[in-house]
Amino acid sequence: MNQCEHIQELVSGYIDNELTQQKSQKVRLHLKECDSCRKIYDDLIAIRQEMGQLSYPECEESKIEALMNEPTSKLFGVIGWLCLTIGLLGFMIWQLFVFYTEPGIVTWVKIGVLLIEVGVLSLFISVLRQRLIARKTDKYRNVKL
Ligand SMILES: [Zn+2]
Repeated sequence: MNQCEHIQELVSGYIDNELTQQKSQKVRLHLKECDSCRKIYDDLIAIRQEMGQLSYPECEESKIEALMNEPTSKLFGVIGWLCLTIGLLGFMIWQLFVFYTEPGIVTWVKIGVLLIEVGVLSLFISVLRQRLIARKTDKYRNVKL
């Protein structure tokens, strides 16, 4: 076994600080003078860094994703939005009908209330739209991966 093969066997342990002081000194000195072993060392470091950087956030992300895509919470999310939408719309229609058929209220108050309600509804729809778009994007991203 030549010197390079011997060093290359030790490189992984050297990176993980598992070698004795004597051995790691030997590896360090050899890496200084030998390009091909240093190349292997650099590649190993790059792979470790890549794994370290990728595996952890990916793990966290997939945990959150799994939680978001969990059938029960998904179902309750859909039910929640559905109830809120139907309830809000129903209440507004009923309230508008009562309010605008009431002859005692002056016209500018009616217009003001109408503007507020249109505003609330617009905001509500925009939030709902963003949620739907976000969900679609998530799905698309999952398919791509
Ligand atoms: Zn070498």
